[in-house]
Amino acid sequence: MTFVFPGRPQPAVAISGQDALFPVNRIYCVGKNYAAHIREMGAEASRDAVCFFLKPADALVTDGRMPYPPGTANLHFEGELVIAIGKGGANIPAAAALDHVFGYAAGLDMTRRDLQLAAGRVGHPWDTGKAFDGSAPVSPIVPVAQCGHFARGSLKLWVNGLLRQDADFGDLIWKNHEVISELSKLYTLQAGDLIFTGTPAGVGPVVAGDRIELCIDRLNKLEVLITAS
Ligand code: MN
Repeated sequence: MTFVFPGRPQPAVAISGQDALFPVNRIYCVGKNYAAHIREMGAEASRDAVCFFLKPADALVTDGRMPYPPGTANLHFEGELVIAIGKGGANIPAAAALDHVFGYAAGLDMTRRDLQLAAGRVGHPWDTGKAFDGSAPVSPIVPVAQCGHFARGSLKLWVNGLLRQDADFGDLIWKNHEVISELSKLYTLQAGDLIFTGTPAGVGPVVAGDRIELCIDRLNKLEVLITAS
């Protein structure tokens, strides 16, 4: 097969302790998955339906440097646990869902909050607020065999050394196995998919020069510097 010009490189994430990379297919995200965060955004928690959205796979940032994006004056950090899918499937039962997990990573669902809120006010999609270049910094993935699963565990995020998010996965509204199962009713999951599982309370703005540190128990620390655009 030939192409009229070279395709872009396969998006990929490092795997802790291995030379081989994790080739990324899609990036799914869960919104509204911690009650305290939903309250800080001015809404009420619900288990009616999971709030899913996507980011393009080439939005990944794996070198720890995120250029401040255009079109916003209110770029927010959202520290999140990321599930890396190692075995695809559709209509996956919740009881078997964790068998589809390759590993876990720490990720930032970076958000142009001004654009997201403006879109929501007029019933437009969230894409410009959520799915932009550089909007998905992630740490290397730790395989399940090394880190286990995350029914509980601590997530802490600092900006310039100040603690801004401090939560436990026990407080997730939709647990990881439920997220995988519900998502697989809407999309056929593939090995290589990433799922950002939602952010706890404490989100806020960053500017160029700010340093974000995200620590999740048993995972690699994610450090991201916001650089001038
Ligand atoms: Mn999020």
